[in-house]
Amino acid sequence: MRLLSANTSLHYIRRLLGAIETCRNTLPHCCLLCNRKTAHYRDHLCSVCRQDLPYPDQLCLGCAAPIPSAVSFCGKCQQSPPAHVLVTASSYHSPSKELISSLKYHSNYLAARELARHLARRVQQLLQQQLIDKPQFLVPVPLHWRRQHSRGFNQAALLAQGLSEFLDIPLLHCCKRNKATTAQAQLSAKQRQHNLDNVFELSYPIKGDCIALIDDVFTTGATMQELSNSILTQQPVDIQYWTIARTLLD
Ligand SMILES: [Zn+2]
Ligand SMILES: [Zn+2]
Repeated sequence: MRLLSANTSLHYIRRLLGAIETCRNTLPHCCLLCNRKTAHYRDHLCSVCRQDLPYPDQLCLGCAAPIPSAVSFCGKCQQSPPAHVLVTASSYHSPSKELISSLKYHSNYLAARELARHLARRVQQLLQQQLIDKPQFLVPVPLHWRRQHSRGFNQAALLAQGLSEFLDIPLLHCCKRNKATTAQAQLSAKQRQHNLDNVFELSYPIKGDCIALIDDVFTTGATMQELSNSILTQQPVDIQYWTIARTLLD
């Protein structure tokens, strides 16, 4: 009797959730870029704008340079293999650039979901081609607590959350940033050398042997490098770099 009652309750809860889902989809849901109506309330780009996101067919897994489809690494990376695989969806161009700015500087959380979806497409492609291993955890590059408090969120964590959902890989907040640093791009080459020294710390051990570090944009790679060095001094683990876009590429 009690079992029947539980089943009946479950049935009504499912019907209620279905009705809420239907109602939500009748509310306005528009494309972040062109303002046209999207197919579903969880879609924040229309199909036309999604097609417009830059997505080169093949990028080097070491430096993200465009390459012929028959190889995984460009000539330079074949000669001097990188320590970590770099996975990006594209170069830092419009409209991905606008979506990243909208997320970082205008707190547009919806952009994070679309950018994560964009990168997840690349990751799924690489996993299907067996060019990368599936990491056991996604680790967002941490912000210093003061920066996170003033911004109100960590964009890398929002991207990692979306990726976690699309790829079914758990999120792990296992690192912290001990210093608020100046952006590398604002420093001279000499200042950059020590700007990130001892910035990161692994807060607790990772229960796995393969992780992906998540960030929005890969420029010099110094932040990812410093974070991975900090992790590796405390624990041997395979580390991949995943970012939405790579700068300095045509
Ligand atoms: Zn659109
Ligand atoms: Zn390369």
